[in-house]
Amino acid sequence: MIVEDIGESHARLGDLLSRADFAVAFTGAGISTECGIPDFRSKDSAWKRHPPVPFDEFMASAQARALTWRRKFAMDDLYAGAQPGRGHRALARLVEAGPVEAIITQNIDGLHEASGVPANRIVELHGNGTYAACLDCNTRYELADMRRCFEASGEAPSCDCGGFIKSATIAFGQAMPTQPMRRARDATMACDLFLAIGSSLVVYPAAAFPAAAKDNGARLVIVNRDPTPLDSAADLVLRGDIGEVLAPFAF
Ligand code: NAD
Ligand code: ZN
Repeated sequence: MIVEDIGESHARLGDLLSRADFAVAFTGAGISTECGIPDFRSKDSAWKRHPPVPFDEFMASAQARALTWRRKFAMDDLYAGAQPGRGHRALARLVEAGPVEAIITQNIDGLHEASGVPANRIVELHGNGTYAACLDCNTRYELADMRRCFEASGEAPSCDCGGFIKSATIAFGQAMPTQPMRRARDATMACDLFLAIGSSLVVYPAAAFPAAAKDNGARLVIVNRDPTPLDSAADLVLRGDIGEVLAPFAF
């Protein structure tokens, strides 16, 4: 069922939440657009002006690594200071008060944690863009230090161990992280309500989770302003603005 009326959206979502024992929220770039961070696919997206460099290219050439860092800093400048929005705040409250047990996110912006959700309730499928790490020994590095080093030398930073340092995100073509994938699968299989919020549901393997939850007997709710390939499988599609749909559930 597709619902566009905002009042009906609030009532139906409130009803499903009140009847759930274990809900999982799965979030994509759409939950952060009201915070000023563009999503990937909308037209005029800054991601199209600064397209991400595929992982194999990053590994293969110093030039590609330098380009990756230049684009990373340009994007960070665009959304420096972004704060959690109504969707993040609503989910933070639903984690604190129930029934949301886990937030699985495709986002790399760190805004779920910034909204007060404990790190052990957040599964970051595509990593975190607010710091960097060595690809070989996993040592953590801070972006401000990497920027100073990059701007002084013009070269992508590397670790004392010789490994390449990269933003702690999963690039296109990079293997999905094992532990987050396992945690996401466990939460998906444990839930009786799965809320897919602000994802176009086309990036795999992440987009397989909503379908798996539904196949396992959970109710599937999709909150998005555009249609997704899973709309026909969902129990409820709330087609509207995420901030408006989730606002009543925020503090
Ligand atoms: P996407 O860009 O493919 O889809 C976002 C969806 O959200 C779209 O269908 C769009 O219609 C919808 N949307 C945008 N703003 C909305 C709003 N205010 N209300 C309702 N719907 C809204 O995003 P994705 O599926 O998450 O995939 C993009 C990939 O790129 C992710 O895997 C992620 O790693 C990365 N990414 C991350 C960020 C971030 O961290 N904030 C931003 C852009 C891209
Ligand atoms: Zn290292």
